[in-house]
Amino acid sequence: MYGIGMLKGLGVTLKHFVNTYVEDIRWLGQRYDSPGSLAVRQGSKARGLFTVQYPEVKLPVPEEFRFIPFLIYDEGPNGEKKDRCTSCGICAKVCPPQCIWIVRTTDPVTGRPVPEPAEFYIDIDICMNCGLCAEYCPFDAIKMDHDYELATWDRHRDNIQGKERLSKPASYYASIRPANYALEEAARAEKQAAKAAKLSGGG
Ligand code: SF4
Ligand code: SF4
Repeated sequence: MYGIGMLKGLGVTLKHFVNTYVEDIRWLGQRYDSPGSLAVRQGSKARGLFTVQYPEVKLPVPEEFRFIPFLIYDEGPNGEKKDRCTSCGICAKVCPPQCIWIVRTTDPVTGRPVPEPAEFYIDIDICMNCGLCAEYCPFDAIKMDHDYELATWDRHRDNIQGKERLSKPASYYASIRPANYALEEAARAEKQAAKAAKLSGGG
């Protein structure tokens, strides 16, 4: 009984071994790092060797892949940064492990709160990548990043990330999540058009 199982296992290994060379010839040297071949090697049609030579070769991640969150800022015509975050605190409230800390800006003259974060921290070692912060943010200001290469020797310097480190332009968001970005922009444009129509109708 055991002997047959072992022979079957060796047969599978031999099949993968031979198929690796067959696939190498079929892809004419493009099998290991071209986007087309990587897509095939991640799917059910993969044949032969399917491991990759990381970090030289990286598997593309799907759009909905999520690692740690980042904050989005819009860019003005002269390159000025405008935080989308209003420091409402909803993300910090819904975060299950409570790893978000926000300090709201205060107007130095009136002492009243200003809707933008003076400080914004995420402890990425505690973050469990659930994406709830991004789901609940009413301003599309926080989204889940694709960048997973965050290994470090210094937790306090690198893994308790502040606003500066967390902030990325909307164009970056559009590049990693094009379908989500397009849907949100269309919804925003629709909302603005409805608001404009209401105002002109009222006038
Ligand atoms: S990221 Fe969004 S939910 Fe969190 S404080 Fe800023 S605006 Fe509010
Ligand atoms: S992804 Fe989840 S755990 Fe991480 S900061 Fe957002 S809500 Fe918290």
